[in-house]
Amino acid sequence: MRIERIELHHIKMRLKNTFITSFGEELDRECLLVRVYSEGLDGWGECVATRVPGFSYETVETAWHVLRDFFIPAILNRPISHPRELKQHLQAYKGHPLARAGLEMALWDIGGKLDGKCLRELFGGEKHSVPVGVSVGIQENPEAMIAKVGEYLQLGYGRIKIKIKPSADMEVASAVRDRYPDINLQVDANSAYALSDAPLFKDLDSLDLSMIEQPLAEDDLIDHAALQAQIKTPLCLDESIRNQRHAGQAIAIEACRVINIKSGRVGGLTEAIAIHDCCLREGVPVWCGGMLETGIGRAANLALASLPGFTLPGDISASDRYYDPDIAEPRFMLNSDSTIDVPDRPGLGVDVLPEELERVTVKVDVLT
Ligand SMILES: [Mg+2]
Repeated sequence: MRIERIELHHIKMRLKNTFITSFGEELDRECLLVRVYSEGLDGWGECVATRVPGFSYETVETAWHVLRDFFIPAILNRPISHPRELKQHLQAYKGHPLARAGLEMALWDIGGKLDGKCLRELFGGEKHSVPVGVSVGIQENPEAMIAKVGEYLQLGYGRIKIKIKPSADMEVASAVRDRYPDINLQVDANSAYALSDAPLFKDLDSLDLSMIEQPLAEDDLIDHAALQAQIKTPLCLDESIRNQRHAGQAIAIEACRVINIKSGRVGGLTEAIAIHDCCLREGVPVWCGGMLETGIGRAANLALASLPGFTLPGDISASDRYYDPDIAEPRFMLNSDSTIDVPDRPGLGVDVLPEELERVTVKVDVLT
């Protein structure tokens, strides 16, 4: 294919619930959408960079600059036979995985449409519906967290993840465990701790958590290995795993026993699949993380999670968990067994709604 035109859309959407993590609060979610055109078709990608450099050093503004001035000119009007070739086209450039991933997702979408295949088929995914859970942001106090968790259990989510931070950790997690002794419960610390906090994590062992996600620094493997050796609960790495090499190294030194794969964090779906393949070979279970995606990124996450190594529930909630309305159709609904169906139409399998897109658009740039 030859990409003839690319649009960048900076959008800003109101979240149904303010999302609080150890990084801070999100009331409106900003991100970039990438729309590519070729042979009379179009494809969409979602770049999950945020307004502030909290999860990553990238922001919507850095991603806009890097895409517009470097990444897009590297592929525009040049032959590209498969989305995985994007890596070679961008080999002169370092970093900016969220920007890369947004562009690559659009190539997967249009590539699938040109081939008449859904992403699950292109990836070699097996599952037609995938187990999902919900990620609950930090609440004002343990009682509010218990109430919030209760709401999601009522809606049918079979796995609950709660965000923790220093000052809102053991007390809140044990309160939730006391109230709901049998649920599949895990915690995510988003790098808010140091190895000297090991006593806290030893205490968390008593709560029968399915995992503790990314307790230590976002670029660390060594201290995570030291912590894992001291506790029984499996550690899961998120921020620390930026590519397949990191995944292999983390497994080799037992820095974790589970990996959360986010295609944005690792520079795209191609690298995400490579990490999955590495973990499958090593017998390490993986699950698909979430970045508050719209229906576009959510569709890509569902296709990724259809791969056989994604044996744990992902942070892929139903569309109505975050946005009402969303900018794409069909909306993803939670099935009664806490799964969501994987789209099966060509490409991502979603249609962007022009009126909804217009309503949330901050700015657009067209490159030809
Ligand atoms: Mg995380």
